[in-house]
Order: sequence, then C-alpha cells, then structure tokens
Amino acid sequence: MKKDSATGQLKWDIRVSQELMTFYNSLKPRGPYFYKLKLADAEQCVSILANSYGVSCPKVVVNNSGVKRIRARAFYNKPSKTINMCTMNHIKTIFHEFYHHLEEVTNGIYRSGTAKASEHKYSHEFADIIYDDLRKKIKDAKPKSKVTSAVTVS
Ligand SMILES: [Zn+2]
Repeated sequence: MKKDSATGQLKWDIRVSQELMTFYNSLKPRGPYFYKLKLADAEQCVSILANSYGVSCPKVVVNNSGVKRIRARAFYNKPSKTINMCTMNHIKTIFHEFYHHLEEVTNGIYRSGTAKASEHKYSHEFADIIYDDLRKKIKDAKPKSKVTSAVTVS
C-alpha cells in the first residue's frame, strides 16, 4: 500500500511483469501443486519482484522448525532481510513475505503502518491482489480458442 504523492491517498502499486508471468507459467507442467514453490523457485520469484519494484532482493532460506515454532507458513526477518520459508510454500505466501520486505527496504514509501497487525493485513491483501492480477493477465494473454463449447443436443 503506497501513498499517492498527488492525492495523499493510499493505493496499491501492483507490478506483474512479463517475466513473472513466464515464471508462473513455467511452474504449471509440474503437476497439481505447481503453485507451491521450492527454495530455488522462491528465490527466482522474489528476484523478479525485486527487479519490478527496483529494490534489493531479499534472501530466502528454508527454516521449517522456525516457521513451525511461530505457527506460520513463513516469515520475514527484518534485521537480516530474509524470508524464512518451509520446504514448499504457496506462491501467495512468498508474495506475502515479499511485501514485508518491500515495506522494510523502501524507506517508508510502502510503510502501511507501524502496527504489526496492519502490516500483515496489507501483506495478505497484496498477496491476494498480485496473485489475482497475475492469473488474470495470463488468462487475457492466451489466444482465444476458436472452438466453442456449445453442446448439441439432438
Ligand atoms: Zn505477514
């Protein structure tokens, strides 16, 4: 959530690049859990996002016990600017943690609030919105099928 410099209103700055679309599409052939990212996938995902937003790339580590200890899916450690993930995480969880990083490294531009609760809330919203936008852009980019789905009943 970013403050618009002209109006002072908070609004979303969602950046879905062609690279992110290509990355997401490359996950699909892997099976039913394509949207779950392993470490290398998560690293690639946050690298693409960091490029889009023009910020440093967060580190990513697998820390199953640490994540389990705080009963989360993943977490972002601010001092080390590191996303701690499980062996596999949903891509939305990585988006969520990336937003914490974005808030941390943009010197207040994305600072949605000092309260932890509101930061998590915005992270959740960010993850939902960027994921939906990503899928919509991919759907819109697909050439329209010439075959109609009409069923003839005789
Ligand atoms: Zn969070």
